[in-house]
Amino acid sequence: MALISDRLARIKPSPTIAMTTRAAELRAEGRDIIGLSAGEPDFDTPENVREAGKQAIDRGLTRYTAVDGTPSLKRAIVDKFARENGLDYTPAEITVGTGGKQILFNALMATLDDGDEVVIPAPYWVSYPDMVLLAGGKPVVVPCTIEAGFRLTPEALEAAITPRTKWLILNSPSNPSGAGYDRAQMKALTEVLLRHPHVWVLADDIYEHLVFDGFEFCTPAQVEPALKDRVLTMNGVSKAYAMTGWRIGYGAAPRPLIAAMAKLQSQSTSNPSSISQFAAEAALNGPQDYIRDSRAVFQRRRDLVVAGLNECPGIECPTPQGAFYVYPSIAGLIGATSAAGTRIDDDEAFANALLDEEGVAVVFGAAFGLSPHFRISYATSDEQLTEAVARIRRFCEGCNFGG
Ligand code: PLP
Repeated sequence: MALISDRLARIKPSPTIAMTTRAAELRAEGRDIIGLSAGEPDFDTPENVREAGKQAIDRGLTRYTAVDGTPSLKRAIVDKFARENGLDYTPAEITVGTGGKQILFNALMATLDDGDEVVIPAPYWVSYPDMVLLAGGKPVVVPCTIEAGFRLTPEALEAAITPRTKWLILNSPSNPSGAGYDRAQMKALTEVLLRHPHVWVLADDIYEHLVFDGFEFCTPAQVEPALKDRVLTMNGVSKAYAMTGWRIGYGAAPRPLIAAMAKLQSQSTSNPSSISQFAAEAALNGPQDYIRDSRAVFQRRRDLVVAGLNECPGIECPTPQGAFYVYPSIAGLIGATSAAGTRIDDDEAFANALLDEEGVAVVFGAAFGLSPHFRISYATSDEQLTEAVARIRRFCEGCNFGG
């Protein structure tokens, strides 16, 4: 009998984590590597939040808490949804987990029966299809091309929905493309969803605060209140407050779904860290200038990277509305040969050659379901970004495009 279950055999390890690990290994061997593959802010957690974490330890808040979040953190989340999104939830409609990742995982595990379909616009965050597969569901991937601004169109959504569709996962601004849906674009999608009352919406709003050029973030339950009773609005503190290691994410949804997710969590991880919950409460209730400051830094870096990449032969890089990623096309490099003689047949070959020849770690587009592209996370210093762009340019200029 095989040791590893069929269920686990359906999924693969996270390719973004794999690339980050490979870059770290090469660095440990003494290579000069610039890592642009990790999806986390390079800032420290804000001071008031760090202090809250220390206080939680000193005050003895170190015991089990309610399984899906302390009452005071749930209250802070209720207030956050009211203040920032105009959404009216009660604490019983809130759940807190170990990162946004656990919220998504709980929701899919709690709701998918074998063969249930989940519509996932591509390029997508790497974990969505694997979580769906693990839960026994069927990912229905809808390509959203560079020409479409990497956004799902109402027509494509309509065409993807079948009687087996249980969820649509919508991530705005998106990892990996940075594309965000404005109110009109979101409304056009919610209109389709109103016609299909069996479809639930999982709104992954984790990059809500990282938006640029005055782009106004919106979320489905806010844009179409009639959908609220079949939306799970997911968010977290990881990206907004540079708290990736603290592992706190949360969701808001109708009570039966929240109760089902809590039941699952009660038999798996139980409560997220009590210390982190207290710190997350301080992040949500405290001063919010940190968000504005980090947004300004990210916007500057985005502009630097987009401008630099668009000077590279064979690369086309649109300007994203948010998050801290760009998702350039390398259609112009396919079929070329790198300076060291590697044939660039696809985006994986491109990313490997770039790492080997120039020491720049990026993630290839196939990992996100849309090729030929690659993802850069620009959550690193301006100096590193300037150097990385110069290396990518040298790589592209060194490519031989043949006859
Ligand atoms: N959703 C998206 C789109 C993400 O990029 C990430 C993290 O990279 C998450 C959810 C999960 O974040 P966390 O579990 O750190 O809260």
